[in-house]
Amino acid sequence: MFELPECTVLAAQMNEKLYGKVISSGRHGNSPHKFVWYNCTPEQFSRAVGNKIVRKATVKGRWLFLGLDPGYVLVLGECGGRMLYHKPGSRLPAKYHLLLEFNDGSFFTVTTQMWGAMELYEKGNEYSGKYVKDMRPTPLEKDFHFRYFNELIDEASKESNRSTKGLLTQEQLIPGLGNACAQDILFRAKLNPRHPISLLTESEKRNLYDAILETVQEIIRKGGRYDEFNLFNKPGGYIRILDKNAVDRPCPLCGTPVEKFRYLGGTCYVCPNCQKMSHNSNSGNAIA
Ligand SMILES: [Zn+2]
Repeated sequence: MFELPECTVLAAQMNEKLYGKVISSGRHGNSPHKFVWYNCTPEQFSRAVGNKIVRKATVKGRWLFLGLDPGYVLVLGECGGRMLYHKPGSRLPAKYHLLLEFNDGSFFTVTTQMWGAMELYEKGNEYSGKYVKDMRPTPLEKDFHFRYFNELIDEASKESNRSTKGLLTQEQLIPGLGNACAQDILFRAKLNPRHPISLLTESEKRNLYDAILETVQEIIRKGGRYDEFNLFNKPGGYIRILDKNAVDRPCPLCGTPVEKFRYLGGTCYVCPNCQKMSHNSNSGNAIA
């Protein structure tokens, strides 16, 4: 599943490769998928996108916005799988959920895995969708500063006994992060996924904030995670520190074998030494 860094990489590549292309035809997929959400009929979609010119791609969280001039914005939300550019003469993938063909013979396809929104909005309404309109600041926006992060923790810890993993992955409190980014963020911050955020010390909050920005920026710099594919069907260059391949292998910092467990709807990977829980149980005295 694409997270904020992969969406950012894809948008940059779209701006480089798709910008200015003229759509000769476009259509919804050739492969029915229960969890692909379209907001118009296939006929309406094809009629609207024909002869449009591709403009700028932008990102908010896990949502990509592709301007189609005049008048429309294609919105691709929470997708996984592949978003691919195909040069002229390429063969169409056997299965896809969205296709834009350009008048130079090249084309663009989206094929999602678990789910995804593929919606077309009239320009000006592209941020009106349910999951987009009230989106909180993402780690790439200037409003995501340390003061805001502290307020977010205060707010999110009032509601429930929320953990660090919950803060990173639930309810889009920090839009764009998911279970993959969260593993490496928590490792860098030396925090256990179950650590209650209400017990975070000032320095732990700072470490967590820094780890979010560093991780997101490093993944973008390296072109996305190695287990996701870019617009040109090439894997990203960011090797995840903690993922399924790290289990039972030595932690890169201390050598303790990495462990895994299920928690909050996904697998967590942790170094039981670097990301101990033990200091949490009596950390009440450490709250500023
Ligand atoms: Zn370790």
